Parts: sequence; C-alpha cells; structure tokens
Amino acid sequence: MPIKSFEQLNEEMSDDRLFANPRNAAAGSLRQKDPRITSTRNLSFFGYQIGYVEGMRINSHWETLELLREWGFPVNPHIQRADTLEDVMAYCNKWEKERFNLPYEIDGVVIKINDLAHQEELGTVARDPRWAIAFKYPPIQVATRLLDIRVNVGRTGSLNPWAVLEPINIRGVTVSRASLHNEGDIQRKDLRIGDWVLVQRAGEVIPQVVKPVLERRTGTEEVYRLPEQCPFCQTPIIRIPDQAMAYCPNKECPERILQSVIHFVSKGAMDMETIGEKMAAQLVNAGYIKSLSDFYQLTEEQLLALGGIKKKSADNMLAAIEASKERPFWRVLFGLNIRYIGEKSAQLLATAFGDIDALAQASAEEIIKVPGVGPEIGQSVYNWLQDTDNLALIERLRAAGLTLAEEKVENTGPLTGQTFLVTGRLEAMTRSAAEEAITRLGGRIATGVSKTLSHLIVGEDPGSKLAKAQKVGVPIHNEEWLVDLLKQHNED
Ligand SMILES: [Zn+2]
Repeated sequence: MPIKSFEQLNEEMSDDRLFANPRNAAAGSLRQKDPRITSTRNLSFFGYQIGYVEGMRINSHWETLELLREWGFPVNPHIQRADTLEDVMAYCNKWEKERFNLPYEIDGVVIKINDLAHQEELGTVARDPRWAIAFKYPPIQVATRLLDIRVNVGRTGSLNPWAVLEPINIRGVTVSRASLHNEGDIQRKDLRIGDWVLVQRAGEVIPQVVKPVLERRTGTEEVYRLPEQCPFCQTPIIRIPDQAMAYCPNKECPERILQSVIHFVSKGAMDMETIGEKMAAQLVNAGYIKSLSDFYQLTEEQLLALGGIKKKSADNMLAAIEASKERPFWRVLFGLNIRYIGEKSAQLLATAFGDIDALAQASAEEIIKVPGVGPEIGQSVYNWLQDTDNLALIERLRAAGLTLAEEKVENTGPLTGQTFLVTGRLEAMTRSAAEEAITRLGGRIATGVSKTLSHLIVGEDPGSKLAKAQKVGVPIHNEEWLVDLLKQHNED
C-alpha cells in the first residue's frame, strides 16, 4: 500500500481503528471478507515471478521480469543486474538512504541468482530458496524521554511493564508507549525512569525501547522495580524461579478476567464478531461475565438492560455467541487463556489428543512429547487441567454445547478399515499429499507405529519408525507400492 493511500485510509478510519503502518493496512485490506471493500483500498503490486510456463523457455530471472513488463504487468523500475558482490553491496547501500524517497515502505532488498538453471541446481531448503536472500536494513532509532513505567496484567495473569514515552514521530507514526516485556529486560538494558532512550520500530512495526542514552543522564533518573502487589487487585505477585515473568495469581483479578474475556471473544479464538473489546469490557463491568462460560447464559433482557443497546444489536450479539459454539476444538483450547498456549500449539494438541477428555487425562510427559509442544507449554497445559476450577469451567462449556473434540471426517472407501503411516521423503508427491489421497479413499493415518498398523510406507531417509515397524512385524512397503495402490483405486 503506497504511503499516500495509507495516510488517506487512516483519515477515513475512526480513531480506534487506525492502522499502525502501510503493511498492516495492506494485510488488513486483503483480509476483508467483502472484496468490494478490498477494491477501494488502493493496493498495488509488482510482479516478480511466473509460477508455471508451458510452450516457451525462460532462461533467467531478468528475462522473467522483462516478459512480465512486456505483458503489461507492473514491474519494479529499480531492479538492477549486478555482476559482482561489490555491485550488490553498492546497490544495498545506495537504497539504505534512498528508500525514504520511495512512495512506499521497504525494509530491505532481495538479491537473487539470475540464471534459472543455477537456481534449480541450488534448490530450496524447507521453503527457503538457496538462490535468493533478503538484505534487511536496520530500523531507524529516535531518542525520546522515558516518562514513566506502568504495568498491565495480561490474560494469564502475567505482569507486563510498558513505557510511557514523550510522544515522538518515527517515520510518520507517533509513538507514545512501548512494551518493556518484563522486569529482567528493563534491568538488563538498565532503563531508568527519566532517561533519554533510543526507540525503534522493530520490523518497522512494533515500537521497542532499545537502550538508554547514558551520556544524557543527569543523576535524577530512578531505577525501576516491579510492584510487589498486583496494581489492579493488590494480591501479592508471584515470581517463578528461572523465569523472567511475574504473575498475579488471583483468578478473580478483575483486569485478568477482562483480558481473558477479550481474548476469548477475539477473532483468533471464539470469533464473536459483534462483541468487540469495548462491549466485552461493558459485559464484565456489568457483572454479567465472571467466567467465560457466562457468555452462554446471557439473555436479551440483560443486554437491553445495559442501556444504549438496541434490540437488533442485542440479537446480533446473541447470534455471535451461538455461532461460537461451532468453532473447532483447537480454537476453544486457544481461547481458554492457558499460559504459553498459542494458536499453533492449540492445533498441535487438538490433533494429537482428539478431544478435551483425552487431553485432561494425559500425563505431563505425554503432553510434552507431542512434537512442537515442548516442556514449557506441556507443563503449563497439564497444570491448568489439574485445577478443579478449570475443569468445572470445561464442564460448563461442554453443557453449553461448545466443540470440545476434533471433528472426525470419516471417509468411507476402498481403504476403510486400514491404517497407514508414511515415513521418510517421497519422490512422486509430498507426504501430506500422500496422506490426503489415503484418507480420501477411506484409509486412516496412524499417529505412530503399533501392532495394529496395517501398512508402513517408507520413503528416502526413514527415521526410527522403520526399525520399530520391523520389530513389531508391520507390513512395510515402498513408495511405488503406494502409488500403484492409489492408482488402482482411483481408476475404479
Ligand atoms: Zn490482580
């Protein structure tokens, strides 16, 4: 999104919906459910790659760009061919300063190998091509005063200090506050209240306090200590050894409840579209929502009694609450405000255990063992599920009709009743494509090798699963066997 379009867009937005920068504005515009809104947002693009070519030969990246230009696609006019590394560095250095004259924001330059045959030879690692690399520019740092340090309480009870800054303009964005993460971070950087500090927008987005400007210290600056009590409920805070974080342990802490409710209704969790942050706060303050399950007891009379709410919006809110019962299990898991659980780990746990009861019965070791979960998240999930209040909450959510199990799409087909496991790298298809083809024909993908496994498919570089399958005597096949099997059934 060009800077000009970004500024115009923000002029039209209400104050609480301003975009922080063009990148957020562009992403937000693309995410619109209504494409007509997206089409009004003045987005533009440069073509830089052709996905698939048939009937012609292209030999270099440069040729690709020339062709795109010839065909009428916008191509960046500042692209340049470089013959030596010196040329590459000269180009990067030149744009470090000149980028500020562009009509759009950039955070770096991409350097690519031109010859497509060389590109192919170099290949990719995971999703990263070995023939292209981004040269990122350091963010701009600006000095301002650290006026005060205040503390928020997060949705899991964590105390999160943040900086009150003398408002400063960094590349068109006024910054007046920044997160300070935790007390340890403040001490490590030796930030003191009253300091002049350097502030930057990380990735040109979130403001960060980098360090104090020591030369400007006068001696009147104050060393900061986290309060010993929660600033919202006065409960003594808890510090967990070896962890930088401090917590308010009070489950009834009003701020913690408010933040957990805001998270529960948010887009990533239960996605109650018509209930925003302000409405969530209003419901909590009215005493309607003391626990997340209280949403499912709300009545129209209660909502109308809040004042300023019309019947239509009350109905819309109740409809959003009703619709939230359809959210998949992992979103509910993510919405429960379990410490360290993000969207990704919620998905991993939902897939691994299938439903809340299996997860609640699992030992800490079993949870930790789930690939991608690890000890910190695993232990936290386990502890949360040992708490009787939390288990009672789950029972109330279950009674309300929320989804607490993975939806099982049981296809029936010629492979129904057989379980498969694919290990190692396949040649003809990706592993997930193979698994998808198997489930489409009614087969089930097993989570591990056991005696009940019907078939182990072995690709290149198989791991320990092969040895285990040999030990328990499971039928072992190569990729060819699988390709034939799929072909045979797909022709039926
Ligand atoms: Zn508190």
